[in-house]
Amino acid sequence: MKLTDIFRESVKTYSFEFYPPRDEISAVDFGINVGQLMRLSPSFVSVTYGAGGSNQNRTFELVDYLKNKVGINTVAHYTCVNTSRDRALKDLSELRSRGLQNFMLLRGDLQKDSGGAYIPAKDGFGHASELVAFAREHFADCCIGAGCYPEVHPEAPHAFADIRHLKEKVDAGCDFLVTQFFFDNAHYFDFVRRAREAGISCRIIPGIIPLTHYSQLERFVKLSNTSIPSFFAEQLEVYKNDPKAVYKAGMDFAIKQCRDLLMMGAPGLHFYTLNKSRATVEIYQTLLGR
Ligand SMILES: Cc1cc2nc3c(=O)[nH]c(=O)nc-3n(C[C@H](O)[C@H](O)[C@H](O)COP(=O)(O)OP(=O)(O)OC[C@H]3O[C@@H](n4cnc5c(N)ncnc54)[C@H](O)[C@@H]3O)c2cc1C
Repeated sequence: MKLTDIFRESVKTYSFEFYPPRDEISAVDFGINVGQLMRLSPSFVSVTYGAGGSNQNRTFELVDYLKNKVGINTVAHYTCVNTSRDRALKDLSELRSRGLQNFMLLRGDLQKDSGGAYIPAKDGFGHASELVAFAREHFADCCIGAGCYPEVHPEAPHAFADIRHLKEKVDAGCDFLVTQFFFDNAHYFDFVRRAREAGISCRIIPGIIPLTHYSQLERFVKLSNTSIPSFFAEQLEVYKNDPKAVYKAGMDFAIKQCRDLLMMGAPGLHFYTLNKSRATVEIYQTLLGR
């Protein structure tokens, strides 16, 4: 089913993001965790592509499995970093031939040797908006999503430029957006207001990551330019040698964050599960009683 059809039926959607397991042991762990999450009947799941060095063929195998064997609405991520137009056409055609109708199209992270500036492949794509336009041209019947950044993409010179480029991306053919994760809901609601003012009218689904280990604190901030409310950071600092207390503080925070988002009108929640189920299941059960 296309996500656009789901959106017509559901005011709010609940979805999970996975990355392809890296080896056989993690595949077993993944299977157990996905089994727990499937019992929650998510609106859809999505699978990252090449993120953090993951093997790209595994994305194809996993989306095929989730869509055609498990029977769940599945979104295939695809990035244009190091990718020519011929290759993108071949890959997207391959995904279409496996029945995939929903794509999350991204540029991809900077290449390690890029010196801080994205280098498009020969005959490739300068920005995700070009990939979106390309996919829309070749696969008009697909549902296309893209990423967006409530706290501004790290490479953007300022918020205004970032929103202008986002509008171009949506106009190129996006049906929906999913945000980078954030911990302060004010950033999300301010971003949605600015997006609407810029003429972006599609669904903007908040991306959520439960912070349940102290080591994630620094990693998440560094990785994505995301700010952590000071009271929460201080709480984690106090508990840093007590993993159970960190987990509880992280869960209390995430449950309140999700509850507030839903109460204040967010169109659902997209969980970056990191291939784990415990935190997401607990949030789900607390908020939705499932
Ligand atoms: C929901 C979500 C899912 C993700 N999934 C993956 C994944 O599966 N695999 C993966 O590798 N990465 C993934 N990422 C990370 C993503 O690839 C990076 O954040 C990347 O740095 C930017 O990708 P983008 O598609 O947002 O790029 P773009 O939309 O191309 O934006 C990148 C930068 O370019 C700027 N820009 C855009 N257009 C122009 C223009 N015309 N002129 C000048 N500047 C411009 C933007 O303002 C921004 O600063 C995901 C991110 C999100 C939010």
